Amino acid sequence: TAGHVNWDVTLRVDRLPAPDGESRIRSRHQSGGGSAANVAAALAALEVDTALVGSVGDDDHGLLARRELERTGVDLEGVRTVEGGETAVKYLLVDDGGEVAILGGNGDNEAIRPSQVDPDRVQSADHVHLTSQRPETAARIATLAREAGVTVSFDPGRRVADRQYDEVLAASDVIFANGNEVTALFDGEYVDSPYADRVVVEKRGSDGAVVHSPSGTCEHAGFDVDPVDTAGAGDAFAAGFIAVRIDGGGFERALEYANACGALAARRTGTQHVPSVDRVGAFLESRW
Ligand code: ADP
Repeated sequence: TAGHVNWDVTLRVDRLPAPDGESRIRSRHQSGGGSAANVAAALAALEVDTALVGSVGDDDHGLLARRELERTGVDLEGVRTVEGGETAVKYLLVDDGGEVAILGGNGDNEAIRPSQVDPDRVQSADHVHLTSQRPETAARIATLAREAGVTVSFDPGRRVADRQYDEVLAASDVIFANGNEVTALFDGEYVDSPYADRVVVEKRGSDGAVVHSPSGTCEHAGFDVDPVDTAGAGDAFAAGFIAVRIDGGGFERALEYANACGALAARRTGTQHVPSVDRVGAFLESRW
């Protein structure tokens, strides 16, 4: 996976938007974050050999985030520590229903440049997943991957409408997007869109997810859980989907497994509380 590492501070509030005046913050949770780091941690928890390419500041938050990632077993050799760099701190306001509002900015640790990517690291992978990353760096990684026949998935998040990522979108085999992001990609009509030869995985929150692919549409309604914190659910979902696909599984199985990972992640606070293979298995068995 490729992208930078954040530090996430999750603040629980009664409702969103948080009202002015009196503070409604009820609890706090902190952990390493950043979409690529979350996906990497989730893949490692799902027993997939995973390396992260990206960067982190050498400040306290960055050092903590790196240490947490080390414990997940993700290979961090490709993670650059930016000297004097400030790690991005994101504040996630989470309400009673698990809905999230994100505040906070970018850090110096988004600064990984195309020339700082080790081609061997990318080209020796089975699959590359791209998220929060400079457009030119993401494009470089996607190009390196394609040259070597390595499959690419991309989760552009809110940057989906940013034309700077068009090259990366065009180089991706699989695009992950939620409802709003899918509308930004194509308005309803996958088959007439520029992405009609790609696989687009549409995440639908509590309603599960849909795969749009050249061979047709495949849907899974998701799992009914009481969500506590949906931040990171999309990252756990992506990890579940990728884990099944690189193991040769079909879209149906990938969707079911990804929805189970997303639902399990939504039941826990924080973006890196990811399920293990055993927990996903037990959850799926209990839902039959
Ligand atoms: P993102 O967080 O990337 O915007 P979603 O909110 O759609 O994406 O969540 C990603 C996935 O996580 C969903 O497709 C689903 O599998 C799971 N998920 C998210 N919210 C819930 C929920 N409330 N109940 C069950 N599963 C959920």
